[in-house]
Amino acid sequence: MSRILVVGAGLSGSTVANVLSRDPGNSILVVDRRDHIAGNCFDYRDGNGIMVHRYGSHILHTSDGDVWNYLRQFTAFNDYEHRVVAVIGGKEVPLPFNYDSMHMVFERELADRMERKLGERFPEGTKIPILELLRTDDPDLRLLAEFIHENVFLHYTRKQWGRDPSEIDGAVTARVPVMLSRDDRYFQDPFQGIPLQGYTEMVRRMLDRPNVEVRLGIDARDLELDGYDEVYYTGAVDELMDFELGVLPYRSVRFEFETHDLEHYQSHAAVNHPNDHDYTRVHEYKYYLDDRSERTTIAMEYSEDFIPGENEPYYPVVDEGSRRLYDDYVELLHRRHPNVRLLGRLGDFRYYDMDKAVGRALSLARSRDSS
Ligand code: FAD
Ligand code: UDP
Repeated sequence: MSRILVVGAGLSGSTVANVLSRDPGNSILVVDRRDHIAGNCFDYRDGNGIMVHRYGSHILHTSDGDVWNYLRQFTAFNDYEHRVVAVIGGKEVPLPFNYDSMHMVFERELADRMERKLGERFPEGTKIPILELLRTDDPDLRLLAEFIHENVFLHYTRKQWGRDPSEIDGAVTARVPVMLSRDDRYFQDPFQGIPLQGYTEMVRRMLDRPNVEVRLGIDARDLELDGYDEVYYTGAVDELMDFELGVLPYRSVRFEFETHDLEHYQSHAAVNHPNDHDYTRVHEYKYYLDDRSERTTIAMEYSEDFIPGENEPYYPVVDEGSRRLYDDYVELLHRRHPNVRLLGRLGDFRYYDMDKAVGRALSLARSRDSS
């Protein structure tokens, strides 16, 4: 019998626990210090009967058929496709910025010319990161790139990361590329949707196994990690090691919820505010599962620095320095606790979407299974 401890009942921890539970020789304890399972994907029906995502909108989107089929064992998904608008100059403009966005903000002749020039240089459907489009030397395309940079990216990124787009990992702004098409979906992955009974229910089913025990309200730092044959740790490694080498940088977010006596508060589930307000975006939850209610629940999302003990780490700030510090922590951890493996958005210190977190957990658990 192997005694296994999984720290964190989010998607990463729940995936590992679920896969390892298929071996009846494993006895698995999953702990989380929060009072609920599902980590940052946690959702619940509020007093208006609306399924609310406590930690911001979560849309499952993936090109990984293995991850998609794995998750579909626990839930059916609806066919929701995420569409986002950004408020620019008082207008709601499709985001990612596409040909239709271009025609909404530039007069027709100029927008036609920009579209023609882009069409001559790139195949239809190309997705271009803003930092790459900024390098163009054509005056019309440069005007376009500077407009998008200034109105979509600059101020939003300052709010979200406290830095300019040029100062953060280019992969971050490349998540929302400029779209050379009229495709107005936020994600182009072939598989997308929202679990019909919610993420929490999906995760509950993943953990509902005879050899898995879940205990909430428990901080793993109060447990004796060396007393387990294997530990899968989805929390932050710097915190686990008492910040011995320094603090890894994360950004945090805060949500302010409001209820309104309205059928709908805004036109889309997510409306981004790059240039106005202190918040980055507003979420309106009833869109995700098409919930019916005379009222609506929204949340404004504010970004802030992560301060240990005061708020939660949500977004790893990945750069050369922080990656080096992270690697040093991994080395220290493995010297002190060779039975502990790190995974998850916090444990791996990577900006994982849900599918990447699940994919990583699947491969870790399956590789252990076959070893
Ligand atoms: P988490 O969900 O963070 O789970 C880790 C768990 O470990 C937490 O519950 C925590 O309480 C627990 N824990 C940590 N330390 C300890 C300890 N010492 N003891 C006990 N428990 C501990 N992804 C998408 O695919 N689509 C989206 O639309 C999307 N939107 C997002 C919006 C926001 C605002 C954020 C922050 C993330 C979003 N994500 C989205 C990413 C998604 O939330 C993550 O990929 C996913 O939650 C990662 O799961 P995880 O289990 O690795 O981490
Ligand atoms: N971004 C931006 N303006 C927007 C939307 C996104 O500048 O209106 C940038 C910003 O730097 C953000 C990154 O693109 O952090 C990735 O955006 P995404 O919506 O993928 O972030 P997430 O949903 O993970 O918070």
